[in-house]
Amino acid sequence: MRCPYCKHDETKVVDKRDVEGKAKRRRECLKCEKRFNTQELLEEIDLTVVKKDGRREDFDQDKLKRGIVIACQKRPVSTETIERMIATIQDKLRKEGKEVQSQIVGSFVSKELKKVDDVAYIRFASVYKDFSDAADFKRELQQL
Ligand SMILES: [Zn+2]
Repeated sequence: MRCPYCKHDETKVVDKRDVEGKAKRRRECLKCEKRFNTQELLEEIDLTVVKKDGRREDFDQDKLKRGIVIACQKRPVSTETIERMIATIQDKLRKEGKEVQSQIVGSFVSKELKKVDDVAYIRFASVYKDFSDAADFKRELQQL
């Protein structure tokens, strides 16, 4: 967590409370000692993801976040926006029940990215949607 004032990346949590499924934290920068609030998502949702080959694995919020962060690399997308996207995606996933196909997770992520940044969307889609050939990819680009 970076200090929004001096960009130093060591901070400590001075207060923590849970509000509406989010952990609100008050942090203090170890360098300039200014304080700021952060909001973090609570623990992962209890969900099994069914992969295309039928394998099942536990839903992993970090993995979801990693995919989004990689897609948004060097794009004007803030950490806050990314956290909000994850919250929206998780809300949708909760409604899917105990098990969800990995393609569904991918389509939810694509949808959120599309709203935020076209380049991030295309990056994500090209990795996760398994474009069968270049024509598919071109079609996606034209829909933007
Ligand atoms: Zn600082």
